[in-house]
Amino acid sequence: MKLSLVVPCYNEEKNVSLFYEAVKKDFSGVDFEYELVFVNDGSRDGTFKELQKLCGGDLPVKIVNFSRNFGKESAMYAGLKESEGDYVTVIDADLQQRPSIALDMVNMLDAEPDYDCIAAYQDERKESELLVFFKKRFYNLINKFSDTEFVQGASDFRTFRRPMVEAILQMDEYFRFSKGLFSWVGYNTKFIPYEVEERATGTSKWSFWKLFKYAMEGIFAFTTAPLRISTVMGFVTALISVIYLIVVVVQKLAFGIDVPGYATTVVLILLLGGIQLCCIGIIGEYIARTYIQTKGRPIYIAKNVIKNHKYEK
Ligand code: UDP
Ligand code: MG
Repeated sequence: MKLSLVVPCYNEEKNVSLFYEAVKKDFSGVDFEYELVFVNDGSRDGTFKELQKLCGGDLPVKIVNFSRNFGKESAMYAGLKESEGDYVTVIDADLQQRPSIALDMVNMLDAEPDYDCIAAYQDERKESELLVFFKKRFYNLINKFSDTEFVQGASDFRTFRRPMVEAILQMDEYFRFSKGLFSWVGYNTKFIPYEVEERATGTSKWSFWKLFKYAMEGIFAFTTAPLRISTVMGFVTALISVIYLIVVVVQKLAFGIDVPGYATTVVLILLLGGIQLCCIGIIGEYIARTYIQTKGRPIYIAKNVIKNHKYEK
């Protein structure tokens, strides 16, 4: 098997057969073997039924059927794990990422032995300016504080060589932020621009709030810099307090001025209380993740893994 296409699917009943046909069309005439590894991420619609229908076709099809929705990150992990190809492409089911580009990626890897991964990044974003602004801020922030490099606009749409896939699979952490993991494992990645198509059918599963949570996940997974906030703030507050103490003592001794009390006290209590709660919250985020990770729960649970007749040999 030369190539595995890993396809996470969550409520994509109308798209999976379109995707299958698109792959068949774009890959017609290639002189290598390829398989489709669909991961049904606990879809609530007829996705699983549609996928089972695809098993009757003449392409090798595998279905990893999750017991519930575990999220795209878990779906990608499962797909990589079940893939058999020397090259593995992660691609969305909604045809926003053309299968023909995956073919280009394969050709690039064939032509350039120095690269272990070809990754697509969005050239022109069909997104609101506000979202683009926040995404930019996020990338600036995380690149500043994390040792891992995050490329702006890089997507999960990538083709890896097998050794890189094995490296990624070694990282079985529960909180997965794949863009970071892909970069953390090293290897040589070539970034190519691509234009995102409109979704074939259905809607995106990403809301602004979900994206925000995902961004936080990335920060907590790849840098401990927020923990330093409390140290820095504690230091700064202590310094200011000492200066203020000197001011108050001098005022009292030299000029006999009484310090006005109420407002200052209330503001200081609220300010310090706020800072402390904020810092405890940040520490809590890390402790919570440590707690969940130590339980060692699996990244996903598959009800079953189905392989079609093409695998019987
Ligand atoms: N997806 C998934 N599990 C989820 C959410 C999404 O497997 O919980 C899949 C989805 O079916 C699609 C891909 O991940 O194939 C990208 O999702 P979507 O199109 O919603 O994201 P966008 O393209 O808007 O970034
Ligand atoms: Mg999409």
